[in-house]
Amino acid sequence: MRFFNTLTRRLEEFREIEKGAIGLYTCGPTVYDYPHVGNYRSYVFEDLVKRFFLFSGFRVRHVMNITDIDDKTIRKANELGVPLAEVTQKYIDAFHVDLRTLNILPAEVYPRATRHIPEMLDLIARLLAKGFAYEKDGSVYFSIERFKEYGRLANIDRESLKPGVAADADEYEKESIQDFVLWKGKKPGEPSWPAPFGEGRPGWHIECSAMSMKYLGPHFDIHMGGVDNIFPHHENEIAQSECANGETFVNYWLHCQHLVVDNRKMSKSLGNFYTLADLLGRGHDPMAVRYLLISTHYRKLLNFTFAGLEMANQALNRIKNFVFSLKNVNSSGGATLEISVLLADAEAAFAKNMADDFNVSGALGAFFDAIHAVNQKMNDLSREDAAAVLAYIERLNTVLGVLEKSGQAELDAEIEELIRRREQARKQKDFAQADVIRAELKKQGVTLLDTPDGVKWKKE
Ligand SMILES: [Zn+2]
Repeated sequence: MRFFNTLTRRLEEFREIEKGAIGLYTCGPTVYDYPHVGNYRSYVFEDLVKRFFLFSGFRVRHVMNITDIDDKTIRKANELGVPLAEVTQKYIDAFHVDLRTLNILPAEVYPRATRHIPEMLDLIARLLAKGFAYEKDGSVYFSIERFKEYGRLANIDRESLKPGVAADADEYEKESIQDFVLWKGKKPGEPSWPAPFGEGRPGWHIECSAMSMKYLGPHFDIHMGGVDNIFPHHENEIAQSECANGETFVNYWLHCQHLVVDNRKMSKSLGNFYTLADLLGRGHDPMAVRYLLISTHYRKLLNFTFAGLEMANQALNRIKNFVFSLKNVNSSGGATLEISVLLADAEAAFAKNMADDFNVSGALGAFFDAIHAVNQKMNDLSREDAAAVLAYIERLNTVLGVLEKSGQAELDAEIEELIRRREQARKQKDFAQADVIRAELKKQGVTLLDTPDGVKWKKE
């Protein structure tokens, strides 16, 4: 498998750190509003990558953080005049519903920044002790001058840096690269925590360094996000983590390009800003949205149009009609070699394309070629042939995730998985997350029973 590593700016063969297993960190939402369809492009792409690793036989440990404290969330809470946690909980719940609607596999952990303040304090203290950070007026800043590799990910000329100038904003442009803030001294109207260097709150970037380290260790395989995360966010994560730990932070960085709508930047003022709920409210199938989001290569700009969404819907209908025909095949005669060879070739072509920098157009092309070829022979198929084709579609759909789950076994497995995650959340005292899962199970008509042998479930 090979893909484009932002850090080295070239295609690289993938080598995992621990055989057969992958540590994956993806930057999650800042929960101050509903994500828009451009944000979901990144999350769906990350899901496609993760699914392909699973399909290829890897175990994947996936961590997606939730930024529930930063400049934006605080501003929103103050505008509404409600506690920060009230605002963020609302958008966290909505986010989990959207992930399920888009058939995005859940991460193992969704750590929240506000629950990892001690880890951040520890990390900042280590950076101070090693001389990579300094205190100034109750805040702590990272000294970019001290890290010689600074700017490598975003390909920044070190001449353009302005070291020694301390900046407080979480987000800024490449034109004004200064010492960035790790800990922000207490300000009126902002939540704060006690700290050895003065009461205050974390900067945005330190959150991801502290949480990835806790759940994936100091050095892991893959970090993903949107291209807008490259600078300053990911650049600063590298600086913090590598200076604190004295070792490589991440081996492979993958970034998903932007989405535009009708070739224009999505913005509320242009009236072309869509959340997932907006699209579903217009009657669109979430699986068509997912199909559209994955069908453009991740390093290309995706132009979102409603005509494109309609075409995605038609492509899905072709698959569904094909599945319907296969389910109605009723001739006996046993499996034929011709069909099994055709399917093996098609699956190999699909996997080969995906393994080549996630060439999804090539992979989908191979998939539809196989559909076309089998359709030509539909009248000659036996039940066994049809079953083999259906199994092939199901396997490829574990990567694409565009067909709704059909089998009872699959639904049951999903319920078991949700219960396992709820238990895990309870063990970690993440009761809010446990409640979200319980509510989701209830929606599916599942009742949980606590028994001496563990949690059992029944369906109403
Ligand atoms: Zn992050």
